[in-house]
Amino acid sequence: MFRCIICLRELDNATASEEHIFPEALGGNITIKNVCRECNSKLGRYVDAPLINNWLIEAKRMLLCLPGKSGKIPNPLEKGYIAGDPQHEVRYEFDSNGKPKRLYTVPKVIREEIDTGERIRIILDKSDENRLPIILEKIAQRAKNKSLKMELLSRKEVHVEHPTMEQNFTFNLWLFSPLTTLDKKS
Ligand SMILES: [Zn+2]
Repeated sequence: MFRCIICLRELDNATASEEHIFPEALGGNITIKNVCRECNSKLGRYVDAPLINNWLIEAKRMLLCLPGKSGKIPNPLEKGYIAGDPQHEVRYEFDSNGKPKRLYTVPKVIREEIDTGERIRIILDKSDENRLPIILEKIAQRAKNKSLKMELLSRKEVHVEHPTMEQNFTFNLWLFSPLTTLDKKS
């Protein structure tokens, strides 16, 4: 017979659970058995999760290629935009081994009211070129309902040799505040 080191309830092999001393997602593989299921899940929720899902830790996990329980290496740099053009959204994609794969332009249709009608800007990744006719078709269908005429103003193909991506992100510093208690309500 042994006890849960947190709530001190008596445990047997059926009620004990495996607790990773260092979270699995950070590469931890040392485990203890003397924690009950309930305390283990609280530790996961209030201790492990805020730690491993923190932006700074995710960035480090990405550099070290440390996957979580899902087997996926986190990519906190995934969503951003081309420097100087916040409307040009990009996705920084990694392969399954956590190695950089490509910077992908997220398809976007931007509508703008102008004196003579509406200007539509379509931003597409080169790899999505075949989707352009479908997108134009959809826009044309809507234009017909409004009895509008469509005219191609310009088409620009941009190739950037070393694109720079910008990203906005937030840190939850509250989680690191000494004033934060684990669970104020319960
Ligand atoms: Zn317990």
